[in-house]
Amino acid sequence: MNDTKTPGRLDPKTTDATAAAIILGCSTQDIGPCVRCQGLTARYGRQAQSICPACRAKEPA
Ligand SMILES: [Zn+2]
Repeated sequence: MNDTKTPGRLDPKTTDATAAAIILGCSTQDIGPCVRCQGLTARYGRQAQSICPACRAKEPA
């Protein structure tokens, strides 16, 4: 189900902040909602990203 190799949306209903932090490699307190899909992402902290890996993967760098 959760393949950490493929960027996938982390649904806040099915993924808690602790699990999301492990997947994203950040702290639990850095977890927040993606501005696009509301999935969980490393929203705050040192490596803050307001867009989750799944959304980032959809657009060209
Ligand atoms: Zn997203």
